[in-house]
Amino acid sequence: MTVRIYALNCGVLEFERRSFFPESERGLAMRVPVPAFLVTHPKGKVLFDTGIHAEGFSDPVAHFGAALAAYFKFHCAAGEGIVAQLRLLGLEPGDITHVVNSHFHFDHCGCNGLFTRAEFFVQGAEMRAARVLRDADGRPRDWDQPLDYRLLEGEHDLFGDGKLVIVPTPGHTAGHQSLRVEAGSGMRLCLTGDACYTQEHLERDLLPSTGAVFNADDMRHSLGLLRRMRDREGLTLVYGHDATQLQKLRSAPEAFA
Ligand SMILES: [Zn+2]
Ligand SMILES: [Zn+2]
Repeated sequence: MTVRIYALNCGVLEFERRSFFPESERGLAMRVPVPAFLVTHPKGKVLFDTGIHAEGFSDPVAHFGAALAAYFKFHCAAGEGIVAQLRLLGLEPGDITHVVNSHFHFDHCGCNGLFTRAEFFVQGAEMRAARVLRDADGRPRDWDQPLDYRLLEGEHDLFGDGKLVIVPTPGHTAGHQSLRVEAGSGMRLCLTGDACYTQEHLERDLLPSTGAVFNADDMRHSLGLLRRMRDREGLTLVYGHDATQLQKLRSAPEAFA
């Protein structure tokens, strides 16, 4: 059994285009896909992110509060969402052994609570910052459940064989991380998460609007790290919310690498 990667379709978010591209005029909307990824390895079934909570689609005001629900529109078609997508592969949440959360925004950890048998890998900096935000307003958070969290302080080779390596890419949030993967197909890639939303952000060295940036210097540095992976090491970057790229990748139940 070799390392394979599957793109899971976890719905669509709609919001002001300026949030991604600050130079856009006010009032223009854009829609982006919300992906999660399954990486199968001989020693485990690993999820990179868990998408949006089911109640976030059915009742966003109840789940996220009025402010966030006013800013985003949430779309989830039949067959989309992490559970339905895993089912395409003949898997249940209980089959997942490891979850790597890129970060704790609602579209990346929404279904964490379903994976009660998995070990979770998060940067300590992300957990500490997320607790501060939670304590500031007291709202429940999708990540905040009695799960088996392992807090990392830097890079981490998940199975000790270099096939799946968690790499810190802070800036979008305090402890954002990406996942480098060497697939059995020979393809080497990096799942960037929101360290880079789209290829255009990489090409233009463009940061999103300030509301989506925790630390601009760190985020620019992480963007540079990803660019070097691509240009010097030949890795394929799989961006966090790039509709054009995701349309081209084979989707589950087929592996794309
Ligand atoms: Zn994010
Ligand atoms: Zn996101």
